[in-house]
Amino acid sequence: MRMQELFRHVLDYFRQTMDDTETELNYSNPFELLVAVVLSAQCTDKRINMVTPALFAAYPTPADMAAASVDDIFSYIRSVSYPNNKARHLQGLAEKLVSDFGGEVPQTLEELTTLPGVGRKTANVIQAVAFKKAALAVDTHVFRVSHRLGLVPARCTTPYSVEMALRKYIPEAEVAASHYWILLHGRYTCTARNPKCQTCGLQAVCKEFGKRKGKEGKEGYRKVERGKESRESKER
Ligand code: SF4
Repeated sequence: MRMQELFRHVLDYFRQTMDDTETELNYSNPFELLVAVVLSAQCTDKRINMVTPALFAAYPTPADMAAASVDDIFSYIRSVSYPNNKARHLQGLAEKLVSDFGGEVPQTLEELTTLPGVGRKTANVIQAVAFKKAALAVDTHVFRVSHRLGLVPARCTTPYSVEMALRKYIPEAEVAASHYWILLHGRYTCTARNPKCQTCGLQAVCKEFGKRKGKEGKEGYRKVERGKESRESKER
């Protein structure tokens, strides 16, 4: 199957089997989304959704959060991973939003990545989800699933190279949705350990599934051969 056809098949499958939601994080404006995405690093969306209602109520705007102390912010997010660092990042990014961007979340990759705690991945999520731009964030799920499905060459060993390789084949209009589709597939089906291949609708085109099946086939052959040998030695 040619790469173009593989991408079409995979994206059509996701479109048919997933809804149009773009994130499992709860938010109601770009600032809240930015805060939630920064908090979600190395943590589950479920946990973040538990702490953000009180955090957003306490600091509804960048100016409110900029005026807070790191300790105060920490008290709202103590149950997420790395709360000390994240409290510092949130206070710092709120200050920068106020001082450099008039209290608004900027829309470009270059501007977003000047904010504390915001790297390329976070900036791409904000661009895609909050501003509907064609940006593709590569997190651990997108990285793993892209390789397993054979959407990117094995030489793509960094998130950036995977992002560039995926962008070559995903049509502009589907870039933002594709990030979320691939991520969800990785989170719930193509999990890091024990991927649920038996219920996955992409078996037929999946490079990893082909490898695993081939291995099972070889294992089965070896077992049969071992069985034959032991029967023969008993008969002797
Ligand atoms: S067949 Fe298995 S390895 Fe391939 S995408 Fe589906 S779950 Fe992942």
